[in-house]
Amino acid sequence: MTREERIREIEKEIRSCRKCSLFRTRNNPVVGEGNLKAKIVFIGEAPGFNEDREGKMFIGPSGKVLDELLRLSNVSRDDLYMTNLIKCMLPKYRKPKQDEIDTCSGYLDNEIELINPEVLVPMGHYATNYVFEKYSLPLPSKQEFYIIYGKLFLADNRKILPLQHPAAILYHPQIKDEMKKNYHKLKILSNDCKWYPVCPMKKFYEEGKLNKKWVELYCKGDWESCVRYQMEERGEPHPDWMLPDGSMDEKLKGIR
Ligand code: URA
Repeated sequence: MTREERIREIEKEIRSCRKCSLFRTRNNPVVGEGNLKAKIVFIGEAPGFNEDREGKMFIGPSGKVLDELLRLSNVSRDDLYMTNLIKCMLPKYRKPKQDEIDTCSGYLDNEIELINPEVLVPMGHYATNYVFEKYSLPLPSKQEFYIIYGKLFLADNRKILPLQHPAAILYHPQIKDEMKKNYHKLKILSNDCKWYPVCPMKKFYEEGKLNKKWVELYCKGDWESCVRYQMEERGEPHPDWMLPDGSMDEKLKGIR
């Protein structure tokens, strides 16, 4: 079965789904949309009023905010696959209940398995919570949840970049700059670090002396946060055995 055929099957299942009570209040379940070969999969929470009416992803006010953030990050919707944790509108924009998440997330799991992206971008608390639990990543407390937005994680060879939900700007316009900074990480992820070809991290990794996580999280991930990169940009000398987070790995000392 081709990817196209498999996704049509998943969509068919979602469109006829009556596994939870949300089917009673929805007009249209909203299936994922976009590039089936995407390197990045965005995960929203649930369709809103406009999405429910039209059966399309992110076409309401949050969609406008998202399009603007994507434009600033040089990312086109055509390059992405976008989907939601919950496929049906939640009445009165209430929060999803755990049993609804448990029932619906199987569709998301199937989409992730099918597309097999390099990067997952859960947006907002519920999608992030779900993805972190799925990949057994430690979650911060509710009060400190915001600290993981814009940070890159690695689990099961997949990169995970949690971002604030675009609707957050509509309720809290003061966080716009912070969100822009976090969404900008998408642009960073689209290129490897310019210093990678000459960086000792590449040499150490290729010689089997460095854990792959450093390369994936920094050199081919969020290189902007690499302490080595920052020092290189400022013209500050730094030893070959300094790791991307700024710590020293004495085992690498003396290796040429
Ligand atoms: N908010 C979401 O999380 N998903 C949509 O599709 C629309 C709004």
